[in-house]
Amino acid sequence: MPTGISIEGVTKSYGPGAAPAVDGVSLSIEPGELFFLLGPSGCGKTTLLRMIAGFIEPTGGRIAFRTGDGGLRDVTHLPPNQRNTGMVFQSYALWPHMTVAANVAFGLEVRKVERQERARRVAEALELVQMGAYAERKPNALSGGQQQRVALARALVVRPDVLLLDEPLSNLDAKLRVELRGEIRRICKAAAITTVYVTHDQKEALSMADRVAIMRAGRVVQLGGPGELYRSPRNRFVAEFLGETNFLTVEGVEGGVLRTAFGLLRCAGQGAAAAGALVSLRPEALRVLNEGESAANELVGAVVESTYLGEIAQRVVELQGAGGARARVKVATLNPPPGTDRAGTPVRLGVAPADVVVVEA
Ligand code: ADP
Ligand code: MG
Repeated sequence: MPTGISIEGVTKSYGPGAAPAVDGVSLSIEPGELFFLLGPSGCGKTTLLRMIAGFIEPTGGRIAFRTGDGGLRDVTHLPPNQRNTGMVFQSYALWPHMTVAANVAFGLEVRKVERQERARRVAEALELVQMGAYAERKPNALSGGQQQRVALARALVVRPDVLLLDEPLSNLDAKLRVELRGEIRRICKAAAITTVYVTHDQKEALSMADRVAIMRAGRVVQLGGPGELYRSPRNRFVAEFLGETNFLTVEGVEGGVLRTAFGLLRCAGQGAAAAGALVSLRPEALRVLNEGESAANELVGAVVESTYLGEIAQRVVELQGAGGARARVKVATLNPPPGTDRAGTPVRLGVAPADVVVVEA
């Protein structure tokens, strides 16, 4: 049974004058979970990860590992080498003069694992990351993606209770980053290891995570599964951070229908909406209506510009509201029909009530 992690009110201040880098974070990470810390640069992700690893001591709170037999091991003040965690960084930090196999074997030598067992486990770890054929190469004869796989094998070979990854794909080019997302998820699940993965890349988190904690200024602002966070962000920050969106201001609520400057919007399951809140409308939730077609919610405007990207077209539409109100919204259309996007073309946009999402301003 893999290890769970309990983080209770953990705080870290780097100095008396500075705002805390991590500010009272509580999280319960499940055994075997692929858990993401996601947020903009400087929000405290690395600091929190390094407190789990033991490289940074919290100024307050408690970190404990929940072991398979139901035990709770308080690790808050334990040195890193007594926690049995494995860590992978943005830079692979492989030793250039050593072969791939020797790089991976190193942690086992330190732990005085006997020679035959060592060879067996190195082979097993390299197999897991599909680098078995490269055991005798030197790191500089590998691509960046291959080096990062070796770094992963090196972390996993010691059979850590917890795997910690800090922006492991940031140094790779865009295509490789996307390829390795699926690969890293596969490896973590195959190893059945509890993993905490830090990134500022929302696509990485949404595509790989079991659950994501979104951080801002040292705090967790929302916690949930990828689909849940994307579809039901709590506030403006989360909605914007997870992808492109359009905001309209709620001016009032009448019988469960939201009043905006651009008309009434029916929404599903957003009872707590009040004047001053925002409606978030994702570009892909807005649909250009055909002539004669109607929708539960309709917005009226004109095309300002259109960018054709092959599989989708991105349009900017200027909405026209009562009393001369204007607002520009982005509309994404999958598989766009040709010739529907000239500037100035009047359009009606439809949006389903389930895609009208109320968030805190
Ligand atoms: P992230 O990984 O999300 O980019 P960090 O955890 O690295 O964020 O940093 C969080 C905050 O703590 C930032 O404001 C950063 O400047 C500050 N910080 C990080 N490390 C140190 C340090 N060693 N000394 C002082 N301040 C630090
Ligand atoms: Mg960082």
